[in-house]
Amino acid sequence: MSGTGEQVIKPGSTIGVLGGGQLGRMLALAGRAMGYRFATLDPTPDSPCGQVADQIVAPYHDAEAARKLAGMSDVITYEFENVDAGVAAMLMSESYVPQGSELLYTTQHRLREKRAIEAAGVKVAPYREIRSEDELREAVQAFGTPCVLKTATGGYDGKGQWVIRSEGEIGEAYETLSRAKTELVLEQFIRFEKEISVIAARSPRGEVRAFPAAENIHVDNILHLSIVPARAPAEVLEQAEQMAVRIAESLGAIGLLAVEMFLTRDGELFVNELAPRPHNSGHYTMDACRTSQFEQHVRAVCNLPLGPGELLTPVVMANLLGEHVAPLLEWMGDEAGLPEGVAAKVHLYGKHEAKAKRKMGHVNLLTDDVNKAIAWVEQSPIWKS
Ligand code: AMP
Repeated sequence: MSGTGEQVIKPGSTIGVLGGGQLGRMLALAGRAMGYRFATLDPTPDSPCGQVADQIVAPYHDAEAARKLAGMSDVITYEFENVDAGVAAMLMSESYVPQGSELLYTTQHRLREKRAIEAAGVKVAPYREIRSEDELREAVQAFGTPCVLKTATGGYDGKGQWVIRSEGEIGEAYETLSRAKTELVLEQFIRFEKEISVIAARSPRGEVRAFPAAENIHVDNILHLSIVPARAPAEVLEQAEQMAVRIAESLGAIGLLAVEMFLTRDGELFVNELAPRPHNSGHYTMDACRTSQFEQHVRAVCNLPLGPGELLTPVVMANLLGEHVAPLLEWMGDEAGLPEGVAAKVHLYGKHEAKAKRKMGHVNLLTDDVNKAIAWVEQSPIWKS
């Protein structure tokens, strides 16, 4: 036990990770460097995390398998949000889950999440809960078009949402999204100039730190680039970082909390979504910050002192999807055309099948000028496919 009254999980202990995807893998790689052991539960044999941890192969909702993970682990964390509530409760009674289940409960549901963000004194896009087609019609008239109808649960990467561009679409949008059998929420459309995100970390002893804000560019609703420093005024970025810290404190988060935001032309920030875990837009930290988001998450859940998150170099993170892998491997033979002053750090997740649009890895381009790295990505044959 530490002098702070909270348990410190020291190296040599085993960290259990619910979910065996790339986030679990990078967490395990960072934690193993610090001397921790890892166990993971995932239904796919030889999962990305399973390649660097002891894996239990079973479905996530398998209570017996979760109990086995609890038995192997001194502390448990998760790498995705949709953890079954029953499994979370069982893990908490059988093992130590410093993140608890309340933050998951909040972030699994858009309405609860928005209320929690507002309770922290931070703005979200104006929204309304929608319980019927009539309510939707009324709300669309109030907000004007376009506006965005979303399911309260289960959506990700743009799934479970409908941009209503005219009142004629109301019936079809309502019918389609209400099939998901969850509450709906209508949001005003924010004409943002940029999407940015900030990842904050908080530990049981109450220490909080934020990583530098990333500017995110999506293609087909999937993250394509994270650019750091974000190309926005320093005071706006500072405000974004403070907002993330405020939300993490107000929610009593433990571990990482990723905060996605819209930035408008007049410098206003609206929070769109939270994720209580390592986040794709924080992969740049692996090579460009004094502490990576994965090391920070290990430090936070183990209640070690948090590391400094300062940026060591400008960086552009480019995601590698299934269709990018073959040209990437070809390019890696000679790194043709990489500009002077740019170093490419390739991370691949060990996934067996390179399906189109599937996240297979990412490249961190350490650079003296983010625009130079962006220009290289834009013309590179890797991302042309
Ligand atoms: P989400 O599933 O909430 O992360 O939304 C996916 C993407 O849809 C976001 O990254 C935005 O590009 C866009 N989007 C979502 N909500 C809004 C909104 N209220 N106004 C404008 N664009 C939005």
